[in-house]
Amino acid sequence: MARLSSWLHQLRLAAADDVLMREQMALDNLRQIRFGAALISGLYLVASALLLPQAWTPGSGVRMGWQLAVGLTHLGSALLTLVMGALAHRALTRQPHGRLARVLPVAVAVLTLLSGLVLTLFYQWVEPKTSPMALAALGVALLIYLRPVVAAALFLSLAAVGFALLPWTQHDPALLASARVSALAIPLTGLAFSVLSWRRNRLRILLARSLAQANEALALKQAELERMAWHDGLTGLCNRSEFMRRAGLELLRAQRHRHATSLLLLDLDDFKQVNDGWGHPVGDAVLCRIAALLQEQVRSSDLVARLGGEEFIVLLPETDLGAALQCAEKVRRAVQDAPLATGQGLVNITVSLGALAVPFDSGADMSRAYAAVDRALYRAKQAGRNRVEAGSLGAAAPDPGVTAAAR
Ligand code: GH3
Ligand code: MG
Ligand code: MG
Repeated sequence: MARLSSWLHQLRLAAADDVLMREQMALDNLRQIRFGAALISGLYLVASALLLPQAWTPGSGVRMGWQLAVGLTHLGSALLTLVMGALAHRALTRQPHGRLARVLPVAVAVLTLLSGLVLTLFYQWVEPKTSPMALAALGVALLIYLRPVVAAALFLSLAAVGFALLPWTQHDPALLASARVSALAIPLTGLAFSVLSWRRNRLRILLARSLAQANEALALKQAELERMAWHDGLTGLCNRSEFMRRAGLELLRAQRHRHATSLLLLDLDDFKQVNDGWGHPVGDAVLCRIAALLQEQVRSSDLVARLGGEEFIVLLPETDLGAALQCAEKVRRAVQDAPLATGQGLVNITVSLGALAVPFDSGADMSRAYAAVDRALYRAKQAGRNRVEAGSLGAAAPDPGVTAAAR
């Protein structure tokens, strides 16, 4: 009863199998058939080579007939197995694998069981042996993954046909009874092994599939983590540390190729009032708008980053001070001319900018350049905001306490 309910459970599992699972099973079967065909046809050929030459030597009629029948069955099975192996190879090398991939395993199982049955029947002429049937059933059960319902149909048919045909070649009542017991026990055992091996392969496929899914999710997470390491979460721009790293490299490259490099430092004017008056979500939307405007206004070879808060920085490679000031002015005007539309009205925004050119022979590194452009921005704020001021590397560093207090 428990076994019956377990089999019913297997049948339900088989019915629920998706197309991918069936395709994977079919592929596994093709590979097993291609691999097994060479080995098994070799064994069949050796058996026929041992049996057939002796079939023509003078002897008793029954012996000769037995050897000829068994030898020819082995030879036929060898040829059929080779053909099946070739077909499996063909199906494997074609995309899509097609109907052959689904039909071939069942055909191989039927032919193998049939060959085992025929050999067992022929053996009865000389001895009550059922090992060919047992070997065929075991081979099919372990090498070919058959859905339980198909396996049940094949193995139960084998039992019924074997049981019915054995009296044709086995005339001794006691030996016939013994052979019939084997003809029932072998297919049932084969069926049990077949279901077990199908189940194990199904589990293997499911595990491989969930492992592949987990690997995919892990790769996505890793890519996301890498992105987060050098992106600003709000605006999607590159963050401070990544900017400093890339800008430092660009300054070295510019020194080597004797180009000036420029920096723009931008700070939103009275942004605290925007937050206080419109709320932080609108403040965030303003920051995103500025990020998008900056990217629109500069070249794609320039590098834009959010340094933190409402402060942005742009690296302009191969750009002198004149061009940097033009670019800064373009940005300033674009921001001024593009207020952010909200449900409650327009949010007017302005920005102050510092612009700095770093000549190739200045020997300045990023920290010196940043300090200089920060001083220029400070002057822009001091001069009334919504304006651009040019900076110079030579100016004395301001008192940082004064800068912080003034912003
Ligand atoms: P100034 O013209 O002198 O630059 O004045 P300000 O108000 O822009 O400068 P202040 O430094 O006083 O204020 C900056 C404000 O930026 C305060 C802070 O709440 C806001 N801020 C910083 N980061 C974010 C953010 O990620 N989202 C929002 N909505 N506001 C931010
Ligand atoms: Mg500000
Ligand atoms: Mg600021």
